[in-house]
Amino acid sequence: MSHYDLIVIGGGAGGFGAAIKANDLGAKTALVHAGLPLGGTCVNVGCVPSKTLLHAAEVLHTATHHGIPGLELAVTRLDVAAIVRDELALVQQLREEKYAAVLRELEHVTLIEGPARFADAHTIDVGGETLSSDRFVIATGSTATVPPVAGLQDVGFLTHIEALRQERMPASLVVIGAGPVGLEFSQLYARFGARVTVLQRGSSIGLRCGGDSARGREDAEYGDASPGQRTRHG
Ligand SMILES: Cc1cc2nc3c(=O)[nH]c(=O)nc-3n(C[C@H](O)[C@H](O)[C@H](O)COP(=O)(O)OP(=O)(O)OC[C@H]3O[C@@H](n4cnc5c(N)ncnc54)[C@H](O)[C@@H]3O)c2cc1C
Repeated sequence: MSHYDLIVIGGGAGGFGAAIKANDLGAKTALVHAGLPLGGTCVNVGCVPSKTLLHAAEVLHTATHHGIPGLELAVTRLDVAAIVRDELALVQQLREEKYAAVLRELEHVTLIEGPARFADAHTIDVGGETLSSDRFVIATGSTATVPPVAGLQDVGFLTHIEALRQERMPASLVVIGAGPVGLEFSQLYARFGARVTVLQRGSSIGLRCGGDSARGREDAEYGDASPGQRTRHG
């Protein structure tokens, strides 16, 4: 059994932050990671790929909707597959630069790959290997929730992961949920030419009402809905 001053479970942005700080303090640290590639959600299937696609969609939109009199631009080619390939190449590059390369510099941190399972309050099992510590940081992030909509499993659906890798735009798309992430996908798919319908059960979009103020601010930053959207409650 290997003993560590600290065990961090989850190699996403949160886990990395903890591991970097622990390394600065000279703590013998295990960073246990499984599931998504190293770097977790943000770099692989979150902020980086979504903002890359949003930027491309914004350029396309601005070219044809800038509203400047006397200026007419033409889009002569739209190759979504090439845009997606570029997005995925950027993901790979930033995963290497911002995570793998950083990890190699952390002399007190050991990466252990495999899903962590607690055996007791001080011990975890990682693929048959036993690690112990008195201190743990659990930074296992989140996964997409598939809502219990009747028939959804039969017709098929995309989560954010697949939605970031579509090399062909669908003619139409239904987005369930008008939170920040749902609106981002709605905007970028709409700007790439899909007819988008957003389903939202609450009366507001983007901002989550009733949350704490910090959460509200964060959501407000994400909540950039497309201009000209039509809303019907149901
Ligand atoms: C489409 C999208 C766009 C987003 N855009 C933004 C944005 O613009 N700005 C922003 O601030 N945030 C954004 N977010 C949110 C942001 O990506 C997350 O808040 C952030 O990545 C969470 O980091 P984390 O380290 O907590 O979790 P994660 O990055 O999810 O990392 C957790 C890791 O732990 C691993 N893991 C899980 N269980 C175990 C286990 N038992 N053992 C070992 N490993 C395990 C997982 O596989 C994962 O790799 C976006 C999210 C999405 C989905």
